[in-house]
Amino acid sequence: MTAHVSLESSKRPPAAPRRFELLIDGKWQQAMAGERLTRHSPAHGVAVSDYACGSSADAAAAVAAARRAFDDGPWPRMTASARARALLKVADIVERRLEELAVLEVLESGKPIAQARAEISGAADIWRYAATLARTLHGESYANLGDDMLGVVLREPIGVVAIITPWNFPFLILSQKLPFALAAGCTSVVKPSELTSGTSLVLGDILLQADIPPGVVNIVVGTGAEVGERLIRHPDVDMVSFTGSTAIGKHVMAAGSDTLKKVTAELGGKNPQIVFGDADLDAAADAAVFGIYFNAGECCNSSSRLLVAADIASAFVERVIAASKKVVVGDPLDDATKVGAIITPEHLAKITDYVEQATAAGAELRLGGRPLDTTTGQFMAPTVIDGVRPDMTIAREEVFGPVLSIMTFDNADEAIRVANDTNYGLSAGVWSGNFDNCMHLARGIKAGTVWLNTFMDGYAELPFGGYKQSGLGRELGKHAVEDFTETKTLQMHRGPRTNWWLR
Ligand code: NDP
Repeated sequence: MTAHVSLESSKRPPAAPRRFELLIDGKWQQAMAGERLTRHSPAHGVAVSDYACGSSADAAAAVAAARRAFDDGPWPRMTASARARALLKVADIVERRLEELAVLEVLESGKPIAQARAEISGAADIWRYAATLARTLHGESYANLGDDMLGVVLREPIGVVAIITPWNFPFLILSQKLPFALAAGCTSVVKPSELTSGTSLVLGDILLQADIPPGVVNIVVGTGAEVGERLIRHPDVDMVSFTGSTAIGKHVMAAGSDTLKKVTAELGGKNPQIVFGDADLDAAADAAVFGIYFNAGECCNSSSRLLVAADIASAFVERVIAASKKVVVGDPLDDATKVGAIITPEHLAKITDYVEQATAAGAELRLGGRPLDTTTGQFMAPTVIDGVRPDMTIAREEVFGPVLSIMTFDNADEAIRVANDTNYGLSAGVWSGNFDNCMHLARGIKAGTVWLNTFMDGYAELPFGGYKQSGLGRELGKHAVEDFTETKTLQMHRGPRTNWWLR
């Protein structure tokens, strides 16, 4: 059995929800229509946040503020050194307010507190990394065009960027976008998921503390259908940086095409971990468990497909099941918890539906498969499904829950074929003691990230994004800031001009 679910943590959710307004033009404002929205903790069931809920009109006001700040304000015109100093100040304040941010993230998302702390700390590191890119961003010069001509390629900020984020890593994902946009000199309107908007709004407060000028970052809570739609279609928005599901990502691209916006998208994944018999099998089993239960499987990088060499499959699956039983599911405010709550009751129902579909299609449920019995909130048991075939829905669609599907393969080429047999291409893990084999798999798998004998590490220095329907563009890495720029070519002539009609 899975270790106990206890909601007896010494830390309790707050007695009253925290109140938030919208951040528009440097001021906290009520939603124009006066609407409000309450978020309940998915683990504790109590109201934890009370936000102003924006509408299309609030989104338009935020875009107008961002446009003014871009067209007339100091931010795009100041030196990169001054912008970098501001980003470094943000990082320092994020670290000072780490516990406040981490607890709020737990209360809204249901993720474990130890993990939330690590995410906030990692986010501060990304703000610092973006500050270095602000100062190293540069164009090109061409002195080889003849003595009378000099060519210069400028990198200019693209303009107003709409940033739309999902509910699973609210603060971290925003920090993979916003500091790079700011480093380039852009202004922004942020629309967080209305399920987990709290830490994005606290970031708004931190940006004010760090003296980021009014209108440079505006934050509008609201639904995708209302606020998101207005942003992706607004003619004064130059670019949309989106993270979310592949279905909505396609919609954002299509809607943005009306005004030919630049769209970057980080979307879903159906990521395989592939285990060969010559691997360190203890390490591989640990990574298999981490890869599927981290963030309760509500993770674009979740390794929801485990591909195991047929000759070791039976023993290896036993190891994975044994390790899965030791995973502590429980109160996310408790330091010992590894798996917290599921984001909403509707999402939990979707996860259990996938499990039922898999068993109906002939797969074998080896562990879990049902919600846990708790007095508050919604929790899913760590679940292992064996005997999955590549054509089953459970092997093809993103479950976004703690549900591991196990498949087998006979040789490396078959493993590559099965790994690539999906519309997604976000990430993959390979476990083998043979270097040649690792390289063969790494080159053959169509994914934006391949981990060899490790899984789901992340660094600000390394680009992240997807092949195929997992996305468009890359975040992080040294080119991340360039995504938020336009290229302008200057051709500068010196000396007398030869008349055109005389040439
Ligand atoms: P959704 O695609 O449902 O939503 C993402 C964001 O888009 C939310 O803020 C949502 O608003 C907004 N949105 C919804 N409809 C529209 C619209 N018509 N126009 C503009 N914006 C809209 O994803 P989830 O929030 O459910 O997140 C889970 C998904 O995100 C998974 O598929 C996961 O794989 C993916 N993801 C990808 C990552 C990556 O880096 N590749 C990282 C993390 C998640 P609201 O929901 O508030 O209405």
